[in-house]
Amino acid sequence: MKPVDYPEPFQQLARQLRRLPGVGPRSAERIALWLATSPDAHPEALVAALETAAREVRPCEHCGFFATGPECAICAEPSRAGREICVVETANDVLPIERTGFFSGRYHALGGRLAPLENIGPEDLRIDALVKRIADERPTEIILALSADVEGEATASYLADVLRPTGVPVSRIAQGLPAGGGLEHADQLTLQRALAGRISLKV
Ligand SMILES: [Zn+2]
Repeated sequence: MKPVDYPEPFQQLARQLRRLPGVGPRSAERIALWLATSPDAHPEALVAALETAAREVRPCEHCGFFATGPECAICAEPSRAGREICVVETANDVLPIERTGFFSGRYHALGGRLAPLENIGPEDLRIDALVKRIADERPTEIILALSADVEGEATASYLADVLRPTGVPVSRIAQGLPAGGGLEHADQLTLQRALAGRISLKV
């Protein structure tokens, strides 16, 4: 005899929750149970917020950070003092750097990094857009803030070569980020030090 399980709509909810990053089968069931039965859950509000965010948040046309219009809040802010461009892998990497309070320039999210084993080549990243921005905006420095693993290193050295003809100084943040962890998990002080101790990549 097959053991009894939760009713199908409940299992369906748990299956959807399991697709979320970091949610395992047990957590999915716990969250599903809470959502379906707690008077505090307000599932309509959750669904509405999810739909609004998915509909309205899109990548900024210039830098790739999150925006609700063509331009993000960082690109739309005329009074930002810095004229550097900080190159990051994904839009998620922008806020950790922004929150250090140590960088007042603008950002450029590549949309990933070079990963030959996953067939991610230069044409899959927003490198042409970066070169165009450099020509248009004439930044004073390009700071590469990529992760400290093999693929991050390979992307940094590729970019240093591609950007050399622009004549703009290129640097990379100092080591010290958690290996393979990416920027998202670095604490503020580590990031601040990594930015302050950035290393020039010879042009
Ligand atoms: Zn932007």
